[in-house]
Amino acid sequence: MRMRAKKEEWLKKNADICIRCATCMAVCPVSRVTPLFPGPKNTGPGAERFRHPEEPSVDHWVDLCIGCHLCNGVCPAGVPISELNLLAKTKYLNEKGRPFRDWLLTHSYLYGWIGALFSPITNYLLRKPVVKKLLEIILKIDQRSPLPNYQSPLFREWFKSHSPKVGKKIAYFYGCFTNTNEIDVGKATVEVLEANGFEVILPPQDCCGFPMLGHGDFDGARKKGEKNLSSLLQVIRSGMEILYTSTSCGFMIKHEYGHLLELPGAEELANHTFELFEFLRKLKESGNLNTRFKGLSIKAAYFAPCHLRTLGIGLPAFEILKLIPELELKRLEADCCGMGGTFGFKKEKYEIAQEIGNDLKRAIDRVNPEIVLTECEGCRLKIRHLTGLKVLHPVQVLRDVLVSRP
Ligand code: SF4
Ligand code: SF4
Repeated sequence: MRMRAKKEEWLKKNADICIRCATCMAVCPVSRVTPLFPGPKNTGPGAERFRHPEEPSVDHWVDLCIGCHLCNGVCPAGVPISELNLLAKTKYLNEKGRPFRDWLLTHSYLYGWIGALFSPITNYLLRKPVVKKLLEIILKIDQRSPLPNYQSPLFREWFKSHSPKVGKKIAYFYGCFTNTNEIDVGKATVEVLEANGFEVILPPQDCCGFPMLGHGDFDGARKKGEKNLSSLLQVIRSGMEILYTSTSCGFMIKHEYGHLLELPGAEELANHTFELFEFLRKLKESGNLNTRFKGLSIKAAYFAPCHLRTLGIGLPAFEILKLIPELELKRLEADCCGMGGTFGFKKEKYEIAQEIGNDLKRAIDRVNPEIVLTECEGCRLKIRHLTGLKVLHPVQVLRDVLVSRP
């Protein structure tokens, strides 16, 4: 379960370019709330000097890095801090072993459809305190953590029964969570694209592999990446672009398939894959965006997920939502929700995740919105848990204000 040797060597060499400025320490959401994690400067380039491949890992704290990449984004020297942490975490977990809980959390694509198929029963059980207690005792999934709702039919099933609109073809990578837990995000995406004259195609696709990579399972992530690449490259070569709505899936496809997994064809795929609102912004710039919006007189807060910021495409959803008449939209000034993929589910990490999220909660309280909008499914889950507010993907709001929907 390792990274390829040459890449590993290159990353480790880059630890030496750290100039000890400590800028990264100011943005790390984990070290800000717990002394158990010594912070990016120390866990990344600092600790790297003491690591030896032949010696056992002593980096137990590196498992607390949530891989948000915020440290990379501010490092003036370009140290690959989160990658160094991931390498150390991989070695630590390979030696210590991964609990069954982590396997379960990173392989939801295997059982999500069963949860969705029996969604009334699944949701009933997942809300029962006794079931949550058992999950905590047996699997160490914190009973206070925000478990997702399952929905049926699957998004892919809904799409089959949907009458497609004929137009320029565009492919959609919807991701596991949209397929089994937030079907409306997929529906809204299809409706918005159709309202802009596109015909949506769902290419064969699998889990992007991001949860596995975050747990240092390079082999598992690579298999997922290879499978997706073989399908998605065909789509691109037939002349289509690919859009995604989950910023974590998008970050994995656009960044990690090439950078960390070094998969052949990853660059070609990245060049033709776009975040949905990034694509809509391009339509707007060329004068082709359907902007026949009705007014929406509500106060909304927008939160930019960590991986969206790491993608370096700005805040396209915020820009497009600003076009909606009467919508009072405020950007939330906070770094991280604390969910960190599956981090916020884990018993030993739940308190830290809550503490990280409290900053965001305070920012939301200051704005006092009626709804919160964000592109990441993990953030939506966590923000609902922190605030009890309605939290949507921006595309759901955009769909609702379109005057001429298909
Ligand atoms: S990736 Fe995020 S959690 Fe990990 S060290 Fe960097 S800022 Fe901290
Ligand atoms: S920001 Fe970069 S250069 Fe500065 S301490 Fe952190 S890793 Fe080193």
